Amino acid sequence: MKKAFLLEKMSIHVRDVPKPRLEPNHVLVKVHACSICGTDLHSYRYGENEIMKRVPRNFPMSSFYGAINSQGGGHQIAGEIVELGADVTQWKISDRVAGVGRSGFAEYCSMKRIYPLPNELSYEAGSFIEPLGVAVAAVRRSGIRLGDFAVVLGAGPIGHLTLQCAKAAGGTVYVTEVSEKRIKLAGMFADEVINPREVDPVKRVEELMGGVAPNVIFECAGRDATIKQLIDMAGKYWTPYGQHMRGVIVSLFEKPWVYDLFDNNAIIAKSMELIGSPIYYPYEHPKDELRIAIDLMKTGKINITPLITAKIPLEDIDLDFKTLLKDEKLYVVIQP
Ligand SMILES: [Zn+2]
Repeated sequence: MKKAFLLEKMSIHVRDVPKPRLEPNHVLVKVHACSICGTDLHSYRYGENEIMKRVPRNFPMSSFYGAINSQGGGHQIAGEIVELGADVTQWKISDRVAGVGRSGFAEYCSMKRIYPLPNELSYEAGSFIEPLGVAVAAVRRSGIRLGDFAVVLGAGPIGHLTLQCAKAAGGTVYVTEVSEKRIKLAGMFADEVINPREVDPVKRVEELMGGVAPNVIFECAGRDATIKQLIDMAGKYWTPYGQHMRGVIVSLFEKPWVYDLFDNNAIIAKSMELIGSPIYYPYEHPKDELRIAIDLMKTGKINITPLITAKIPLEDIDLDFKTLLKDEKLYVVIQP
């Protein structure tokens, strides 16, 4: 079967390899769609997983993310079961499934954490449940309530999904983004999209909020500039109803923050709550965020159709990582 490997930085090659050997509790999935994650892009850019080197060992499921080198890569996977491990009883051949695994940039892949993919949802949609699970978890951790105001800093894949989830939770959501294509997509769902290259996002949010702080700010860009904006946007004022402003850090950062960018006493002075949101619950359970993600798509509360900006055959994967690094597309789905 064909499978993509990152052999050196900025270069993915497709090779012929034997189909994976099945562990007793795994199933073999014929991959119909595997979407490219930001962590895959980081591995591609640096030739190794710089971000994962910087996260603590116990970061949930860290071995899945951006692990293109040795194992192949791609963890946002949807497909059809073609073989069952010896101990598998709850699945049958030709079941449509989606989930999180390793080595999805391949024709076949051995998987354990899978969920039934409803007939209403395409395989491409199925390849979104993992990143959507990240956004669902971030929005639930934020504690956002009906009528709250939120800002999402950065409308890349995770930022965009966070925007849609915060809207579904009943918030008014302002977004900051610089890329034209992402601004357009975010504009379909956000209450306002602010381009920091044209207007000062901190001032604009202050105007929109009429002098009070937003309830929640999600950091989804992974840059020093957006961390500074998060701290600055927390405002000189209380949020409506006197709650603390909550900052939810969703991004993993390539480099440590440059602390002297912002007043390091501001977090105390502004009485902020900072929350880190490390993906979704790391193990499958009956109500975990990946199931919630499937339901949100199935019921139309989250619309991912406009986000799938390209469907690419496995052979073109290298080309596509290159265009993705230029931010020209939001979500690319590989179809082996
Ligand atoms: Zn991912």
